[in-house]
Order: sequence, then C-alpha cells, then structure tokens
Amino acid sequence: MKIFIKYSIIVLFFLTANVYSSDEKIGRNFVDLEDIGDGYNIHVMYVIPIDGVDKEYDLNSKISMLLYQIDKWFNSKTKDRLYVHGQNLKFDRKEDGKIDITFLRLKKEDNEISKEGIQAVNVLQQAISSHGFNDPKKVYFIIYGGSNRDVCASSQLPSYASEGIIANTAALYYPGKRSGSCIDNNGGFKPEFNETAKAALHEILHVLGAVPQCAEDHLVFDSEGTINDRIGGHIAIPGDIMYSVQSNVTYDKAKYLDYKSTNYYNHNNEKCLDIARSRYVIPTVDNPQLPTFAVK
Ligand SMILES: [Zn+2]
Repeated sequence: MKIFIKYSIIVLFFLTANVYSSDEKIGRNFVDLEDIGDGYNIHVMYVIPIDGVDKEYDLNSKISMLLYQIDKWFNSKTKDRLYVHGQNLKFDRKEDGKIDITFLRLKKEDNEISKEGIQAVNVLQQAISSHGFNDPKKVYFIIYGGSNRDVCASSQLPSYASEGIIANTAALYYPGKRSGSCIDNNGGFKPEFNETAKAALHEILHVLGAVPQCAEDHLVFDSEGTINDRIGGHIAIPGDIMYSVQSNVTYDKAKYLDYKSTNYYNHNNEKCLDIARSRYVIPTVDNPQLPTFAVK
C-alpha cells in the first residue's frame, strides 16, 4: 500500500509537469523582455494555435535569419539616401543584440484563424492583445505557425483603421496556404531575400504606415469581388516592395524601395508619412513619425 501511494504521487507529478511545461524550452521567452531603448520598436512573436505543432522557430534561428535578411535588404536600399550608411528596422532586441522573440500558444484552433484569410491578422491582434501584448509604443510582427486559407501574409493598415480600433500588427502565416505555395516557389526560411522575406517586409512596411494615401502613386484596388477590394496602401510601380496587384499574385522580384523617393521613403512632402522619418527605423530622426502620421 505504501509503495502504491508513493508511485501514484510520482505519476501525478509527471502528468502535471508535462501539461504545464510542454512549450517550455531552454532559451524561450513567454513575455516581452524589458526594453533596452525607448520602447518604440517592432516586437516579434512566434504564435501558434492551440492545436499547432511547435517547430521552435524562435529557438532554431529561423525567425532570426528571416529578420536578418529583411533588415539587410532594407539597409541596402536605404544607403546613400537620408543617411549615407542607410537605415535599419528597429526590431525589439536584447542587450546582446539578438531579437527579443516572444512565444505564445493561443487558445484558438488553426482552422478558426485560417478561415479568416486576409483578415486573420485582425484575429491575431486581438488574441495577442488579450494576452497583454498591446504596448501602445510597439508594433507587433507575428510569425504565425499555422495555415491561412488565402494569403501568405497580411497586415493591419493604421491609416485605414477606424477610430478606436488598434492597428499595430502584421503577420506572416507559415506554412500559410495548405497547398504549400507560401513556402515553395522561392519561399521558406532560407538565407536569402526570397518571397517569404519579401512578403514579411511588405507587411511590416504596411504596419509602419506605408504606402500613405497622400503618396503620388498610391493605389486603391477597385471593387472587383476579390479579397482585396478597396484595399489601399500599395503603389503601382512593378518591382517595388510595396507593389501589389488585386489578384494578390505578384511575379516580380522586389528590387526597389520607393526608388524615386516620391511615395513613402525619403520624399519631401512634409505632410505625408515617410518611412525614413519613422519612429521604427534607426538611425531615427528628431521628431520622428508614428504610423498614423498625417492621417486625418
Ligand atoms: Zn500589401
């Protein structure tokens, strides 16, 4: 009898420990670590649904590699413009310079999120906010480890958000479409600026306010019965990172970041949002702009 009781206690201990620690892994953070700067930054999260498989993208350098590629491209395209050495995206980093990535397992199933298609980012924003990830100084970039019925990535558009609605989140869905088309065809986590990196940067620039409606080449899609009807925030210049077509299928490699400097980067329209003057890039100008700059 004595032995039996001891044994039960041990079994119970292991069961409980298992339930609460299955996502707990060495090096993983479930909170947004204390900021080392002024707190205005792009906070990165690895978010999975309740039924999702933890692929450890926050731990195995997949996310870090993706962000490195994004930032390298952004820096190369901003060289010799507002700053000689270019600018970098202001990701939330730890003291050692590594990205502060938060892991979060949601209470929602993958299907609930996937079926929302391009709107899934709105569901994700509310979900992370309910877990306390709603710092007004931050924008959030989510690598969602699950599927999406329609798109590989999407973002909230701060300049289109109605009063009282928070638009601070961009998301990459990985693997995204169930056909695998988000990670095949020159996509996936690879050490290059491929389609996945391009999609991620495109959405991050959206949540930072690009392309502002006041930009001269700003494009709003027509009502054609597609998922993109009446969506703005793009420009009609093929090859630009913010180029998009209504069908959401682009074949062009991203070559430009507003190369004419007339739309959203380093332009001279003071009343229009400029990513070079964003609070979320470094070096940061004096009196930097928030993503809703000049939106009436
Ligand atoms: Zn877009």
